[in-house]
Amino acid sequence: MTITHNIGFPRIGVERELKRAQESYWAGKITQDELEAVGRELRARHWRVQADAGLSLIPVGDFAWYDHILEWTTLLGAVPARFGQASGQPVALDTLFRMGRGRAPTGTPTAACEMTKWFDTNYHYIVPELVPQQDYRVARSHLFDQIREAQALGHRVKPVIPGPLTWLWLGKGDAFVQGAADVNKLALLERLLPVYVQVLQTIKALGVQWVQIDEPILGLDLPLAWQQAYAEVYRTLATADVSILLATYFADLQDNTAVLKGLPVQGVHIDLVRGPEQLERVAGALNDDQVLSLGLIDGRNIWRTDLDQARHTVSQPAARRGDKLWLAPSCSLLHVPVDLEAEQELDAELKAWLSFATQKLDELRLLAASLDTPDDQATQQALQAQRDALLARRNSTRIHRADVGARMAAAGALTRDRRPFAERIAHQQAQLSLPSYPTTTIGSFPQTDEIRVLRRDWKRGALGDAAYEKAMRQEIEHVIRFQEKVGLDVLVHGEPERNDMVEYFGELLAGFAFTQNGWVQSYGSRCVKPPIIYGDVARPAPMTVAWSAYAQSLTDKPVKGMLTGPVTILQWSFVRDDQARETTCRQLALALRDEVNDLEAAGIRVIQIDEPAFREGLPLRRADWQRYLDWAVDCFRLSTSGVADATQIHTHMCYSEFNDIIESIAAMDADVITIETSRSNMELLEAFESFHYPNDIGPGVYDIHSPNVPQREWMVDLMKKAGARLPRERLWVNPDCGLKTRGWPETEAALVAMVEAARALRYT
Ligand code: GLN
Ligand code: ZN
Repeated sequence: MTITHNIGFPRIGVERELKRAQESYWAGKITQDELEAVGRELRARHWRVQADAGLSLIPVGDFAWYDHILEWTTLLGAVPARFGQASGQPVALDTLFRMGRGRAPTGTPTAACEMTKWFDTNYHYIVPELVPQQDYRVARSHLFDQIREAQALGHRVKPVIPGPLTWLWLGKGDAFVQGAADVNKLALLERLLPVYVQVLQTIKALGVQWVQIDEPILGLDLPLAWQQAYAEVYRTLATADVSILLATYFADLQDNTAVLKGLPVQGVHIDLVRGPEQLERVAGALNDDQVLSLGLIDGRNIWRTDLDQARHTVSQPAARRGDKLWLAPSCSLLHVPVDLEAEQELDAELKAWLSFATQKLDELRLLAASLDTPDDQATQQALQAQRDALLARRNSTRIHRADVGARMAAAGALTRDRRPFAERIAHQQAQLSLPSYPTTTIGSFPQTDEIRVLRRDWKRGALGDAAYEKAMRQEIEHVIRFQEKVGLDVLVHGEPERNDMVEYFGELLAGFAFTQNGWVQSYGSRCVKPPIIYGDVARPAPMTVAWSAYAQSLTDKPVKGMLTGPVTILQWSFVRDDQARETTCRQLALALRDEVNDLEAAGIRVIQIDEPAFREGLPLRRADWQRYLDWAVDCFRLSTSGVADATQIHTHMCYSEFNDIIESIAAMDADVITIETSRSNMELLEAFESFHYPNDIGPGVYDIHSPNVPQREWMVDLMKKAGARLPRERLWVNPDCGLKTRGWPETEAALVAMVEAARALRYT
């Protein structure tokens, strides 16, 4: 029998039970015992689903409150000093929550730990904070408790833990502790490994044979010292005498394959969806008695698997390892929704093309059955059904549109070039006549409950089109009058019609589908429901023009049109896997180009194309960066280059570092870029300064994530710092990001102060 296993299962629950329970607990509505009960129930349910799919080994330890890295950090006792953890005491659940989000029902509110993206996914983990000589100890027992819990339910378990090198790599010096910034991470191994060994021994004592140790950093460019550290680290872990499955995912191991040679682990898992070419190479690095686990079912996307192709892979000589060959999804299923069966509204045709976590395990079972009992009739039928679904998708007229094909073929001839910035900006200034240090906002204004209710009622059909439009227009008028009163220079319509910056456009574009329940964890209790791009993208009709034109009709000040950029739409969706991402992105860019041109034709003189996800699209390996940057920049320019010189193009990016991509940022050639930088004290501008970035730039002067009202002087000060780095005449004054999560009172106070700051700057 082929051995199948899973790398990890989504923890949120099909109805987002985990989110609800955690938020209720934080709000004091349920007790910790009640919260724990929800966790137990979810774990039991998810183990059951996996057992029902016939998995030989079921993961434990993939469940997490808030985040699995945070779970592990607290198990290791690596609690930053500011949380006041008593030495020798177990780490309380509320301490974990305080580390994740700053507060919990008990304990002093404390600055939360930083959160950042998990490799190239949209999941965010809590960054471990390291200090020299950090003390580690087994400070929580949840992992062992959960192993017992699963065993009591009759499951054969495989605990999953982050590897020591990956955990250290993901960590950073504790910013609150002097001298910790440049902590030597590898030097911490000496203190860390004994705790790992202790954990592994405890697991072994529970009667467990296999432990999965995740080392996804083996998909990254690693310094030699880190590559070399593997041998010694795993020699030490081997002393615990459990069977270790070293799990890698998200990438081809490339030069890190050499790390595997002679490594004292009993098995290795590789991602053959992201790195299909590594099979032979990795197999060649292993001994005959080591397990090779092949990740063949895509854990990062929602399409049904081509099982014939998977079987072909398994039939390669490199995969002929008898009972030393295991099969699995490519990575944890954390990154896909839980269950397709929860979708009631997707049409049958589209639904037949999809596979969520639960279905992926069924595919895995079928793949194993096709190897073990190929002649079994039920297996044959199931395989045929799978084949039919794939074929239907390939041939569906809903996927391929001749008009899009023709436009794409002609897209090469469309200009991506505008006249040099110096010439454009003169036309723009003549048309817009803005003061120096012009003020603007990033797009959205407070989204009150009223607005949300209006949108929801309209979507449900409870509110008619005319009534909805009237209400939205009222809101837009309110936002315009407000901005006039405050004295802003370039106004926005406020985005009241948008629930989400990607969903809004996806719903108006052809080629997109939406799920009711396709939630994926983004961070903590936050989940997102990415749209599914299943077919050629086209724009049946203008998407934003009526709202923007209405807003512009109310005022003489320029109103900024507001669009989400092609790369960001791509990045925050599930993207079709039957063509290159770059091709889908270019289709999006063409649709947006039409929208940009239509906005201009409707009298909109300033158009912003948001690209907050531009940086996160970077591939994991440096060597692949330039290719991505080239097509991403090309798509942005394709969207924005159809307009006259006098039309001003803005872009906006947040959560970004720019140092290593500044050339591409400049190549986007937006007339104005607004960025998040207030929290970094304008330090993010260094990249723009040393590059002599030529175009206009609006460094955010206050943090919209906080309800605190920024002081005028403080913003003046920040702008002076910006002025020391960049020419004053190139600077704009604006908040960090959109205001939709803020309330009106603080928004008003903040923007009044911001406009005063700009005025003060003009007279200095
Ligand atoms: N225009 C968007 C807004 O203001 C930008 C959001 C973002 O950058 N994430 O809400
Ligand atoms: Zn932003």
